[in-house]
Amino acid sequence: MRICSSLSAKLLLIWSLLGAGVISAEESILLRPAAVFDGQEMHPDWVVLVAGNKVAASGTSTEVSAPANARTVDLPGQTLMPGMIDGHSHMFLHPYNETSWNEQVMDESLALRTARATVHARRTLEAGFTTARDLGTEGAGYADVGLKQAIDSGIIPGPRLLVATRAIVATGSYGPKRSTGLDVPQGAQEASGLEEVTRVTREQIGKGADVVKVYADYRWGKDEPSRPTFSQEELNAIVQTARAAGRPVVAHATTPEGMRRAINAGAETIEHGDEGTPEVFRLMKQKGVALCPTVAAGDSVARYRGWKKGMDPDPPAIAQKRASMKAAREAGVTFVMGGDVGVFTHGENALEMELLVNEYGFTPIQVLRQATSGNAAVFHLADRGSIRPGLLADLVSVAGDPTRDVAALRQIRFVVKDGAVVRNQP
Ligand SMILES: [Zn+2]
Repeated sequence: MRICSSLSAKLLLIWSLLGAGVISAEESILLRPAAVFDGQEMHPDWVVLVAGNKVAASGTSTEVSAPANARTVDLPGQTLMPGMIDGHSHMFLHPYNETSWNEQVMDESLALRTARATVHARRTLEAGFTTARDLGTEGAGYADVGLKQAIDSGIIPGPRLLVATRAIVATGSYGPKRSTGLDVPQGAQEASGLEEVTRVTREQIGKGADVVKVYADYRWGKDEPSRPTFSQEELNAIVQTARAAGRPVVAHATTPEGMRRAINAGAETIEHGDEGTPEVFRLMKQKGVALCPTVAAGDSVARYRGWKKGMDPDPPAIAQKRASMKAAREAGVTFVMGGDVGVFTHGENALEMELLVNEYGFTPIQVLRQATSGNAAVFHLADRGSIRPGLLADLVSVAGDPTRDVAALRQIRFVVKDGAVVRNQP
């Protein structure tokens, strides 16, 4: 087991409780849960051998032979699975029922937002998410690049991050907006025209964007419906520029036309897709574009606006979401697991998976695959998302069987990231 030099006192305490002693890069650990979910299927009676920061072996205890000096950690009654991957988070936002998005972007200092983000990162990791695709700082500039550096260098605990930095919006289309018409700091970087969209795409990549996020549509004014913003040519230019730099483009899109333009431009994932039609979803399927539905964000916002779930009828936005999700499933679209956490509380990332199972007709094993091997495949992360020899030792153990009861995903007992134990709660 490898341990970063920056391990906190808390982790050292965990280690001393485990009787870890001197840790070397060659040390191995044998994990013995009740079952292993390897990213695809459940395997009762499997064990997993970790060596350094990699999975060395997995299989039945007769198939896996641990070295004589390996330590054994028993995880009775638990399911060991790959560290989960959140496909749509915002580390620099906190729930809108605490502080509105406008106020967060306009009135909260960068220092305050960054301090919060460090806590959000820790909660994400403790909730079993060892990787997160963070889709825009919403006015916090390039602070996600620094947050990622702080995590990667072991200064603070957190998931491995794929960051989008500022995100790109069509000039005038985003927010916050003031009735005075005066310019206020925006939640994303504005651009218009082929030259400018090319420049800001390069600028964001140059400053550390792993993915480029573009808003293909948005509402121009309060209480207006969303409308497509960027032209097809502008979206094409963004995708071509990003692709040349080896970065995928992800598109916020809720309208059929915004989705269609983003899909045709070559975006790899569509975020939200609320008003998607059967025809648009068929186009997604045909072009191999995945949908990140973020049902948890819509559900949370509706509740913040007073929806008493279970008592009131579904608000129009929720009813529409149910219809579009049905159409997406019927078209055979690939789903990404990501709930837009930040709109709701960090660490409650599993809410998306619970809603998909309890309200949108998915089975627990389908959402588990999405959150592990599925997201890894869509995000080009060949080194994680499954439990297989040679992959990163990013592992999480939950009490019970999450393939039978999705609520088990809230019962996180043990988290390993990069071969180091970051949570152990027998
Ligand atoms: Zn978002």
